[in-house]
Amino acid sequence: MKQTPPVQAPRRFDVLAVFAGTTAVAAIGVPWYGISHGYQPALWIAFVVLLAWNGMSITAGYHRLWSHKSYQAHVLVRLAFALGGALAVQNSIRQWCADHRNHHQHTDDIDLDPYSARRGFWYSHIGWMLRDYPATAKDYANVRDLDRDPVVRWQDQHYAALALSLNILLPLAIGALAGDALGGLLLLGFLRLVVSHHTTFLINSLAHAWGKQPYSDATSSRDNTVIALLTYGEGYHNFHHTFQWDYRNGVRWYHFDPTKWLIRGLAWCSLAAELKRVAPEKIEQSRAKMQLKHATERVIQFRLINKEQWLALLETEYEQLVHVLNEWSHCRQRWLEMRTRDLKKRWDETELHHQLQELEQSLNMRRRQWRLLTQQFA
Ligand SMILES: [Zn+2]
Ligand SMILES: [Zn+2]
Repeated sequence: MKQTPPVQAPRRFDVLAVFAGTTAVAAIGVPWYGISHGYQPALWIAFVVLLAWNGMSITAGYHRLWSHKSYQAHVLVRLAFALGGALAVQNSIRQWCADHRNHHQHTDDIDLDPYSARRGFWYSHIGWMLRDYPATAKDYANVRDLDRDPVVRWQDQHYAALALSLNILLPLAIGALAGDALGGLLLLGFLRLVVSHHTTFLINSLAHAWGKQPYSDATSSRDNTVIALLTYGEGYHNFHHTFQWDYRNGVRWYHFDPTKWLIRGLAWCSLAAELKRVAPEKIEQSRAKMQLKHATERVIQFRLINKEQWLALLETEYEQLVHVLNEWSHCRQRWLEMRTRDLKKRWDETELHHQLQELEQSLNMRRRQWRLLTQQFA
Protein backbone atom coordinates (compact mmCIF):
# COMPACT_ATOMS: atom_id res chain seq x y z
CA MET A 1 0.00 0.00 0.00
CA LYS A 2 1.35 3.42 -0.92
CA GLN A 3 2.06 5.60 2.12
CA THR A 4 1.24 9.30 2.06
CA PRO A 5 4.10 11.49 3.33
CA PRO A 6 3.40 13.36 6.61
CA VAL A 7 1.97 16.84 6.03
CA GLN A 8 4.41 19.55 7.13
CA ALA A 9 2.97 22.34 9.23
CA PRO A 10 2.66 25.57 7.20
CA ARG A 11 5.60 27.96 7.43
CA ARG A 12 5.26 31.19 9.40
CA PHE A 13 6.87 33.62 6.96
CA ASP A 14 6.10 36.62 9.19
CA VAL A 15 8.03 35.07 12.10
CA LEU A 16 10.82 33.94 9.78
CA ALA A 17 11.14 37.51 8.40
CA VAL A 18 11.38 38.99 11.93
CA PHE A 19 14.07 36.52 13.06
CA ALA A 20 16.07 36.65 9.80
CA GLY A 21 15.80 40.44 9.44
CA THR A 22 16.78 41.30 13.01
CA THR A 23 19.63 38.74 13.03
CA ALA A 24 21.04 40.07 9.73
CA VAL A 25 21.00 43.69 10.94
CA ALA A 26 22.49 42.72 14.34
CA ALA A 27 25.25 40.65 12.71
CA ILE A 28 26.17 43.04 9.88
CA GLY A 29 24.67 46.51 10.44
CA VAL A 30 25.53 46.86 14.13
CA PRO A 31 29.29 46.10 13.84
CA TRP A 32 29.56 48.09 10.60
CA TYR A 33 28.07 51.18 12.25
CA GLY A 34 30.21 50.61 15.35
CA ILE A 35 33.40 50.58 13.27
CA SER A 36 32.45 53.49 11.01
CA HIS A 37 30.72 55.77 13.57
CA GLY A 38 31.03 54.24 17.05
CA TYR A 39 28.36 54.08 19.77
CA GLN A 40 28.12 56.53 22.62
CA PRO A 41 28.44 55.25 26.23
CA ALA A 42 24.91 56.58 26.95
CA LEU A 43 23.53 54.22 24.30
CA TRP A 44 25.32 51.24 25.87
CA ILE A 45 23.79 52.15 29.25
CA ALA A 46 20.33 52.34 27.63
CA PHE A 47 21.07 48.98 25.94
CA VAL A 48 21.63 47.30 29.33
CA VAL A 49 18.53 48.97 30.84
CA LEU A 50 16.21 47.94 27.97
CA LEU A 51 17.68 44.43 27.86
CA ALA A 52 17.04 43.94 31.60
CA TRP A 53 13.56 45.50 31.35
CA ASN A 54 12.39 43.27 28.50
CA GLY A 55 14.14 40.19 29.98
CA MET A 56 12.69 40.55 33.46
CA SER A 57 9.26 41.40 32.03
CA ILE A 58 9.31 37.92 30.57
CA THR A 59 10.77 36.12 33.61
CA ALA A 60 9.02 38.00 36.45
CA GLY A 61 5.92 38.98 34.46
CA TYR A 62 4.96 36.58 31.66
CA HIS A 63 6.47 33.58 33.43
CA ARG A 64 6.27 33.72 37.22
CA LEU A 65 3.36 36.18 37.57
CA TRP A 66 0.94 35.39 34.75
CA SER A 67 1.78 31.80 33.74
CA HIS A 68 2.30 30.39 37.22
CA LYS A 69 0.55 32.95 39.48
CA SER A 70 3.37 32.57 41.98
CA TYR A 71 2.59 36.04 43.40
CA GLN A 72 0.26 39.02 42.95
CA ALA A 73 1.44 42.35 41.53
CA HIS A 74 0.24 45.96 41.58
CA VAL A 75 -1.33 47.25 38.36
CA LEU A 76 1.65 49.57 37.69
CA VAL A 77 4.03 46.62 37.88
CA ARG A 78 1.78 44.61 35.56
CA LEU A 79 1.70 47.52 33.12
CA ALA A 80 5.51 47.78 33.16
CA PHE A 81 5.78 44.02 32.50
CA ALA A 82 3.16 44.16 29.72
CA LEU A 83 5.12 46.92 27.94
CA GLY A 84 8.46 45.18 28.56
CA GLY A 85 6.98 41.95 27.20
CA ALA A 86 5.87 43.69 23.99
CA LEU A 87 9.40 45.13 23.73
CA ALA A 88 10.75 41.56 23.99
CA VAL A 89 8.65 40.47 20.94
CA GLN A 90 7.70 37.08 22.35
CA ASN A 91 3.96 37.25 21.65
CA SER A 92 1.23 38.69 23.85
CA ILE A 93 0.92 37.62 27.49
CA ARG A 94 -2.15 35.55 26.59
CA GLN A 95 -0.45 33.56 23.81
CA TRP A 96 2.81 33.15 25.74
CA CYS A 97 1.10 31.87 28.88
CA ALA A 98 -1.21 29.50 26.95
CA ASP A 99 1.86 27.92 25.31
CA HIS A 100 3.81 27.86 28.54
CA ARG A 101 1.03 26.20 30.54
CA ASN A 102 0.84 23.55 27.80
CA HIS A 103 4.60 23.11 28.09
CA HIS A 104 4.24 22.32 31.81
CA GLN A 105 1.19 20.13 31.37
CA HIS A 106 2.72 18.04 28.57
CA THR A 107 6.48 18.48 29.10
CA ASP A 108 8.51 16.48 26.55
CA ASP A 109 5.43 15.16 24.73
CA ILE A 110 6.29 15.24 21.03
CA ASP A 111 2.83 16.31 19.90
CA LEU A 112 1.46 18.33 22.82
CA ASP A 113 4.43 20.21 24.31
CA PRO A 114 4.75 23.31 22.07
CA TYR A 115 8.54 23.40 22.49
CA SER A 116 9.23 19.76 23.27
CA ALA A 117 12.94 19.13 23.91
CA ARG A 118 12.47 15.61 22.54
CA ARG A 119 12.18 17.15 19.07
CA GLY A 120 15.76 18.37 19.29
CA PHE A 121 17.71 21.47 20.24
CA TRP A 122 16.82 23.56 17.16
CA TYR A 123 13.10 22.86 17.45
CA SER A 124 12.89 23.70 21.16
CA HIS A 125 15.08 26.79 20.74
CA ILE A 126 13.44 28.49 17.76
CA GLY A 127 12.13 25.95 15.24
CA TRP A 128 8.76 25.58 17.00
CA MET A 129 7.91 29.17 16.06
CA LEU A 130 8.89 28.93 12.39
CA ARG A 131 5.92 26.77 11.44
CA ASP A 132 2.32 26.79 12.59
CA TYR A 133 2.57 23.55 14.58
CA PRO A 134 -0.67 22.13 16.06
CA ALA A 135 0.85 22.19 19.59
CA THR A 136 0.88 26.00 19.59
CA ALA A 137 -2.11 27.17 21.65
CA LYS A 138 -5.14 28.18 19.57
CA ASP A 139 -8.17 28.08 21.88
CA TYR A 140 -6.77 29.74 25.05
CA ALA A 141 -8.96 27.60 27.28
CA ASN A 142 -6.12 27.25 29.77
CA VAL A 143 -5.71 31.03 30.25
CA ARG A 144 -9.33 32.05 30.86
CA ASP A 145 -8.32 33.30 34.32
CA LEU A 146 -5.95 35.82 32.74
CA ASP A 147 -8.78 37.46 30.79
CA ARG A 148 -9.96 38.97 34.06
CA ASP A 149 -6.81 41.11 34.13
CA PRO A 150 -7.48 44.33 32.15
CA VAL A 151 -3.74 44.75 31.53
CA VAL A 152 -3.63 41.34 29.80
CA ARG A 153 -6.67 42.15 27.65
CA TRP A 154 -5.34 45.59 26.71
CA GLN A 155 -1.88 44.26 25.78
CA ASP A 156 -3.42 41.46 23.71
CA GLN A 157 -5.59 43.90 21.72
CA HIS A 158 -2.75 46.36 20.99
CA TYR A 159 0.14 43.90 20.89
CA ALA A 160 1.34 44.60 17.31
CA ALA A 161 1.23 48.40 17.68
CA LEU A 162 2.99 48.22 21.07
CA ALA A 163 5.70 45.85 19.81
CA LEU A 164 6.40 47.99 16.72
CA SER A 165 6.48 51.33 18.51
CA LEU A 166 8.56 50.06 21.44
CA ASN A 167 11.08 48.40 19.13
CA ILE A 168 11.40 51.17 16.54
CA LEU A 169 10.13 54.51 17.88
CA LEU A 170 11.51 54.14 21.40
CA PRO A 171 15.08 53.26 20.27
CA LEU A 172 14.97 56.11 17.69
CA ALA A 173 13.75 58.56 20.36
CA ILE A 174 16.42 57.52 22.91
CA GLY A 175 19.04 57.66 20.16
CA ALA A 176 17.87 61.13 19.08
CA LEU A 177 18.10 62.36 22.68
CA ALA A 178 21.71 61.12 22.73
CA GLY A 179 22.31 62.78 19.33
CA ASP A 180 22.49 59.53 17.34
CA ALA A 181 19.06 58.23 16.25
CA LEU A 182 20.40 55.52 13.89
CA GLY A 183 22.89 54.30 16.50
CA GLY A 184 19.99 54.06 18.97
CA LEU A 185 17.88 52.04 16.53
CA LEU A 186 20.71 49.60 15.76
CA LEU A 187 21.84 49.05 19.34
CA LEU A 188 18.57 49.35 21.29
CA GLY A 189 16.26 48.07 18.56
CA PHE A 190 18.10 45.31 16.74
CA LEU A 191 21.04 44.09 18.84
CA ARG A 192 19.05 44.21 22.10
CA LEU A 193 16.21 42.20 20.55
CA VAL A 194 18.43 39.47 19.10
CA VAL A 195 20.43 39.08 22.34
CA SER A 196 17.20 39.02 24.34
CA HIS A 197 15.56 36.46 22.04
CA HIS A 198 18.36 33.92 22.07
CA THR A 199 19.13 34.13 25.79
CA THR A 200 15.44 33.59 26.66
CA PHE A 201 15.13 30.74 24.13
CA LEU A 202 17.94 28.91 25.97
CA ILE A 203 15.45 28.15 28.74
CA ASN A 204 13.43 25.98 26.36
CA SER A 205 16.41 24.41 24.63
CA LEU A 206 19.58 24.19 26.73
CA ALA A 207 17.82 24.08 30.13
CA HIS A 208 16.17 20.87 28.91
CA ALA A 209 19.43 19.31 27.76
CA TRP A 210 22.44 20.38 29.86
CA GLY A 211 22.72 20.34 33.64
CA LYS A 212 21.74 18.41 36.73
CA GLN A 213 18.45 16.98 37.92
CA PRO A 214 18.57 17.29 41.72
CA TYR A 215 14.79 17.33 42.30
CA SER A 216 13.20 15.06 39.70
CA ASP A 217 13.93 13.18 36.50
CA ALA A 218 10.29 12.98 35.49
CA THR A 219 11.00 15.58 32.77
CA SER A 220 14.09 16.58 30.76
CA SER A 221 14.42 19.87 32.69
CA ARG A 222 17.84 20.68 34.22
CA ASP A 223 19.39 23.02 36.75
CA ASN A 224 22.23 24.97 35.16
CA THR A 225 24.02 27.96 36.71
CA VAL A 226 25.48 29.17 33.39
CA ILE A 227 21.98 29.45 31.90
CA ALA A 228 20.78 31.17 35.11
CA LEU A 229 23.47 33.83 34.60
CA LEU A 230 22.13 34.57 31.11
CA THR A 231 18.41 34.39 31.92
CA TYR A 232 17.87 36.35 35.14
CA GLY A 233 17.75 33.17 37.21
CA GLU A 234 15.60 30.93 35.02
CA GLY A 235 18.39 28.36 34.60
CA TYR A 236 17.29 26.46 37.71
CA HIS A 237 14.77 24.79 35.48
CA ASN A 238 14.65 21.38 37.19
CA PHE A 239 13.56 23.04 40.42
CA HIS A 240 11.04 25.09 38.45
CA HIS A 241 9.49 22.09 36.69
CA THR A 242 9.27 20.23 40.02
CA PHE A 243 7.77 23.14 41.98
CA GLN A 244 6.34 25.38 39.28
CA TRP A 245 4.26 27.68 41.48
CA ASP A 246 7.19 28.79 43.67
CA TYR A 247 8.15 32.42 42.94
CA ARG A 248 11.81 31.38 43.17
CA ASN A 249 13.72 29.34 40.60
CA GLY A 250 17.06 29.50 42.37
CA VAL A 251 15.90 28.28 45.76
CA ARG A 252 19.11 28.72 47.76
CA TRP A 253 20.09 32.20 48.92
CA TYR A 254 23.31 32.12 46.86
CA HIS A 255 21.62 31.01 43.64
CA PHE A 256 21.84 33.75 40.98
CA ASP A 257 18.16 34.58 40.54
CA PRO A 258 17.67 38.35 39.97
CA THR A 259 14.01 37.70 39.11
CA LYS A 260 13.45 36.34 42.63
CA TRP A 261 15.24 39.37 44.10
CA LEU A 262 13.15 41.73 41.97
CA ILE A 263 9.89 40.09 43.15
CA ARG A 264 11.06 40.24 46.76
CA GLY A 265 12.06 43.90 46.28
CA LEU A 266 8.62 44.68 44.84
CA ALA A 267 6.99 42.96 47.83
CA TRP A 268 9.15 45.02 50.16
CA CYS A 269 7.80 48.18 48.43
CA SER A 270 4.22 46.78 48.75
CA LEU A 271 4.00 46.42 44.95
CA ALA A 272 3.81 42.62 45.11
CA ALA A 273 2.14 40.25 47.55
CA GLU A 274 1.28 36.61 48.31
CA LEU A 275 4.67 35.24 47.26
CA LYS A 276 4.33 31.47 47.11
CA ARG A 277 7.05 29.16 48.42
CA VAL A 278 7.26 25.39 48.57
CA ALA A 279 7.73 24.01 52.09
CA PRO A 280 11.46 23.34 52.73
CA GLU A 281 10.83 19.74 53.78
CA LYS A 282 9.19 18.99 50.42
CA ILE A 283 12.26 20.30 48.62
CA GLU A 284 14.62 18.32 50.84
CA GLN A 285 12.57 15.16 50.41
CA SER A 286 12.69 15.49 46.61
CA ARG A 287 16.46 15.85 46.71
CA ALA A 288 16.82 12.84 49.02
CA LYS A 289 14.57 10.76 46.77
CA MET A 290 16.75 11.52 43.75
CA GLN A 291 19.90 10.73 45.78
CA LEU A 292 18.35 7.41 46.81
CA LYS A 293 17.56 6.64 43.19
CA HIS A 294 21.09 7.44 42.01
CA ALA A 295 22.73 5.49 44.85
CA THR A 296 20.49 2.47 44.17
CA GLU A 297 21.41 2.58 40.48
CA ARG A 298 25.11 2.67 41.39
CA VAL A 299 24.84 -0.30 43.79
CA ILE A 300 23.21 -2.35 41.03
CA GLN A 301 25.63 -1.09 38.38
CA PHE A 302 28.77 -1.85 40.49
CA ARG A 303 27.48 -5.37 41.25
CA LEU A 304 28.66 -5.14 44.88
CA ILE A 305 29.02 -8.49 46.69
CA ASN A 306 26.79 -7.44 49.57
CA LYS A 307 24.35 -5.68 47.26
CA GLU A 308 21.25 -6.62 49.24
CA GLN A 309 22.62 -5.14 52.48
CA TRP A 310 23.57 -1.88 50.78
CA LEU A 311 20.13 -1.55 49.22
CA ALA A 312 18.43 -2.28 52.55
CA LEU A 313 20.68 0.23 54.34
CA LEU A 314 19.91 2.94 51.76
CA GLU A 315 16.20 2.29 52.03
CA THR A 316 16.23 2.35 55.85
CA GLU A 317 18.33 5.50 56.08
CA TYR A 318 16.11 7.26 53.54
CA GLU A 319 12.94 6.28 55.41
CA GLN A 320 14.38 7.46 58.71
CA LEU A 321 15.49 10.76 57.21
CA VAL A 322 12.02 11.35 55.76
CA HIS A 323 10.37 10.34 59.03
CA VAL A 324 12.40 12.82 61.13
CA LEU A 325 11.98 15.47 58.43
CA ASN A 326 8.18 15.14 58.59
CA GLU A 327 8.14 15.23 62.39
CA TRP A 328 10.37 18.30 62.40
CA SER A 329 8.22 20.08 59.79
CA HIS A 330 5.06 19.30 61.75
CA CYS A 331 6.57 20.72 64.91
CA ARG A 332 7.94 23.73 63.05
CA GLN A 333 4.53 24.41 61.57
CA ARG A 334 3.07 24.66 65.06
CA TRP A 335 5.88 27.00 66.05
CA LEU A 336 5.12 29.25 63.05
CA GLU A 337 1.42 29.27 63.91
CA MET A 338 2.15 30.27 67.50
CA ARG A 339 4.52 32.96 66.34
CA THR A 340 1.89 34.50 64.09
CA ARG A 341 -0.51 34.48 67.03
CA ASP A 342 2.11 36.30 69.08
CA LEU A 343 2.49 33.47 71.54
CA LYS A 344 6.23 33.31 71.21
CA LYS A 345 6.85 34.04 74.87
CA ARG A 346 4.62 31.27 76.08
CA TRP A 347 5.99 28.97 73.44
CA ASP A 348 9.54 29.41 74.74
CA GLU A 349 8.50 27.80 77.97
CA THR A 350 6.59 24.89 76.53
CA GLU A 351 7.80 21.41 76.07
CA LEU A 352 7.23 21.73 72.35
CA HIS A 353 10.15 24.09 72.15
CA HIS A 354 12.47 21.41 73.53
CA GLN A 355 10.88 18.92 71.20
CA LEU A 356 11.67 21.10 68.21
CA GLN A 357 15.27 21.52 69.34
CA GLU A 358 15.66 17.79 69.80
CA LEU A 359 14.12 17.11 66.41
CA GLU A 360 16.48 19.61 64.84
CA GLN A 361 19.47 17.82 66.35
CA SER A 362 18.14 14.46 65.29
CA LEU A 363 17.47 15.76 61.77
CA ASN A 364 21.00 17.16 61.47
CA MET A 365 22.41 13.80 62.51
CA ARG A 366 20.23 11.99 59.95
CA ARG A 367 21.29 14.47 57.26
CA ARG A 368 24.97 13.89 58.06
CA GLN A 369 24.55 10.11 57.93
CA TRP A 370 22.59 10.33 54.68
CA ARG A 371 25.24 12.56 53.13
CA LEU A 372 28.06 10.20 54.14
CA LEU A 373 26.17 7.21 52.83
CA THR A 374 25.11 8.66 49.47
CA GLN A 375 28.51 10.30 48.87
CA GLN A 376 30.00 6.84 48.59
CA PHE A 377 27.95 6.34 45.44
CA ALA A 378 28.33 9.84 44.02
ZN1 LIG B 1 7.27 27.72 33.88
ZN1 LIG C 1 10.68 23.84 30.59
